[in-house]
Amino acid sequence: MDNDREPISIEQFKGVIDILHPCMDDFLYIMDIPNDYYCISPGALERFVIPASQFENATEMLRKFVYADDFEALQQDLARIIRKEKEFHNLQYRWLDKEGNAIWINCRGRVLMDSEGNPKYLVGCINEIGRKQKADNVSGLLGEFSLQSELRERSHSKGFILRVGIDDFKEINENKGIEYGDMVLRETATCISNVIRPGQHLYRIVADEFIVADFSGGSVQDAERLYEKVRGQICRYIEENGYEVFYTVSGGVLDLRKVEDQTYHNLMKLSEFALSVSKSTGKNKCSVYRKQDYRSFLRKKELVHVMRQAVNQNFKGFETHFQPIMDIKKNRLYSAETLLRFESETTGKVSPGEFIPLLEESGLIIPVGKWVLEQAMGACREIQKEIPDFKISVNLSYIQVLKSNVLDEILIGVKRHGLKPGSLVIELTESGFLEADENFIGFCEGLKKHNIPLALDDFGTGYSNFHYLYNLNPSTIKIDRSFTLKALNNDYEYNLLNHMVAMTHDIDLTLCIEGIETDQELDRISGIQPDFIQGFYFGKPCAFEQFVRDYVKAA
Ligand code: C2E
Ligand code: MG
Ligand code: MG
Repeated sequence: MDNDREPISIEQFKGVIDILHPCMDDFLYIMDIPNDYYCISPGALERFVIPASQFENATEMLRKFVYADDFEALQQDLARIIRKEKEFHNLQYRWLDKEGNAIWINCRGRVLMDSEGNPKYLVGCINEIGRKQKADNVSGLLGEFSLQSELRERSHSKGFILRVGIDDFKEINENKGIEYGDMVLRETATCISNVIRPGQHLYRIVADEFIVADFSGGSVQDAERLYEKVRGQICRYIEENGYEVFYTVSGGVLDLRKVEDQTYHNLMKLSEFALSVSKSTGKNKCSVYRKQDYRSFLRKKELVHVMRQAVNQNFKGFETHFQPIMDIKKNRLYSAETLLRFESETTGKVSPGEFIPLLEESGLIIPVGKWVLEQAMGACREIQKEIPDFKISVNLSYIQVLKSNVLDEILIGVKRHGLKPGSLVIELTESGFLEADENFIGFCEGLKKHNIPLALDDFGTGYSNFHYLYNLNPSTIKIDRSFTLKALNNDYEYNLLNHMVAMTHDIDLTLCIEGIETDQELDRISGIQPDFIQGFYFGKPCAFEQFVRDYVKAA
């Protein structure tokens, strides 16, 4: 365009946007510089957190959707345009999408001058740099972007989405090379194409995932059958190729009748979730999306988020409670088990059975566990002022043992708090796989060397095996409430427990029975002469102050 001519009016340009935007994947825009006014293709609203397709106070409004770190670069570029130092805007920077993710865009535009030679409009086009191509040249299929366009044109569909993912595709690439990986992708695409019906469309979505979209009313059973057929085709292909490569695929099905929000983004999110369920529960299988699974997934995500925040706010919401452990022969308080609690405004009280595994999965158990140790040792030192031989038990997770230097933390803590050897007891639950782990063996040996007693928790559940007693060398074994209950209700289990106690004593170990709630239970279990008893009968876990008041001062 010739800059000497009077530029087109903003209304004319809006008309151009109206005509062209349905035919374009990129976004046209015009900025009226003197009036600080902005207008963009309506499609941009679906993707980014833009307030409206037209707005005043453009420079300020840009702050709402331009990624904060990039805002200055944009402002500087616009300032240079206003100072007439440049007539072409070409900037790669980031906008925020609706989930708050920073998305790279390329924004190009020409500056149109008014009749006095001052900058009037910036007119141009914005495109997403990382946006997927419409078609995928490796698989020969339509890509994610085509599915996006297809969905944009539809209202509510009945039918299904089947998401198929190649299991462990990374390994195929690593073991056989990328070209071989590409061939597997092409063959998988062919296998799926061979079994889909007219009206069903196949797209390649991400590296190793495909989507079959059935907008013509297919049922969940149809989708599951389709998945089986795909599997059958792939098996045939593998066989025909003499098992040169062996791989499997997983599937995730979305019943569109049950999904209200059928935007591209939501369908991708839910189908990805359905596929992830298959992958995390063994692969080579197909899962149908269920709202309750997704809810529980979101709940876990939320909990981890809240707990991470809590950790960063000096463990706000975490608390340590203490439960008395009684020496049954001397009939007195022997020690306390430290039990972690968590609550927050958004989640309320959460049970350890729910939050401990999440702390472990997320690795947060490392800082939280360190904090628990610190609380426990502090509490023990305080109580020892009243009861000098008082002991404190702390549960450790295997994640702490395997992935942090918890032994050093224990030794430093014991020293700093001036605790006597043996005052801190470490509780570990048994697990079948760790005996051979070097870090784990090193940890157990370290405890032994520094006279820190180990209690084997949950004995009588999981992997119970007397072999452990030899390898882990604990000083105490703790019988879980589930086993205690069985022994209370069944003679065979009672005798078994009786023999276990005798044997435990023979090898100089002590035994703690957990979960005693009533007089009768106490009577019956006393018959087998355990060393210690922990249970609601003697006291529930409670905060430190209450513990001191009810059990220490009263002792
Ligand atoms: P655990 O180590 O076996 O702890 C004993 C559990 O039994 C506690 O549950 C305690 O409240 C419960 N209990 C004790 N006596 C009775 C009774 O008479 N009746 C009944 N019904 N229950 C009784 P809690 O506090 O819910 O903790 C559950 C588990 O969470 C613990 O089992 C432990 O494995 C884990 N946990 C708790 N705190 C921590 C921690 O700081 N770190 C780690 N890694 N795990 C922890
Ligand atoms: Mg325990
Ligand atoms: Mg226990």
